Amino acid sequence: MQMLLLRAVPYSVLIAPFVCPCKQQVCASKQAIRKFKEPPKFTFSNQQTMKLTAFLFLSVLTVATLQSSCQNKAHLSENIDVASTNTDSLTIEKSTNPYYSHTDTSTLYISNAEWKKILPPDVYAIMREKETERSFTGKYWDFMGKGTYYCASCGNKLFRSDAKFASSCGWPSFFEQLNPQSVVYQPDNTYGMRRTEALCGRCGGHLGHLFDDGPPPTGKRYCMNSISLDFEPDK
Ligand SMILES: [Zn+2]
Repeated sequence: MQMLLLRAVPYSVLIAPFVCPCKQQVCASKQAIRKFKEPPKFTFSNQQTMKLTAFLFLSVLTVATLQSSCQNKAHLSENIDVASTNTDSLTIEKSTNPYYSHTDTSTLYISNAEWKKILPPDVYAIMREKETERSFTGKYWDFMGKGTYYCASCGNKLFRSDAKFASSCGWPSFFEQLNPQSVVYQPDNTYGMRRTEALCGRCGGHLGHLFDDGPPPTGKRYCMNSISLDFEPDK
């Protein structure tokens, strides 16, 4: 018996801290635990609700504005990249372009989605999305070699080097197109200006613009993007 009592004492010491000495204390402990576990309940007055709604609305508006601003910046930087492209590194992949030909004069009706698969990014940006290369950066603006200029997208004959003249505008300039089918035109009223857009007569690709301030005998100035041109020297 004594042995049993001696063995029971340590267990009672271990259990004692978890047994409340009275019912009241047990309830107080449970309430304390419940208070700890349960999240506090908040109630809002009408004024607070209005303030919270206004805050959320302004937050959403701010996030949307910032996102829009970033997209505009991304678009601007994209234009700058295209404009500052060094065309010396540009290679026109004629071998993988099934529409490129110096002899086929049939009109092409190719979607931009199809052109995007074929053309180098620089050529696509200028000729299909009507971007403009930065002046004095293209490889033909001050080039005076003898030969023929073709469309960089489809190989259509556009200009002879005899019709090229030194212009101070920073883009390759011609006073005459090679034949009536070489270049076609359409009005361009973008950027708050009234201009005449010049396009390839075969594929409709953007070449540049046509102005009336050129030299004799035509008085025309075909202001072209170097990226839209593919030059082949006379043999
Ligand atoms: Zn073309």
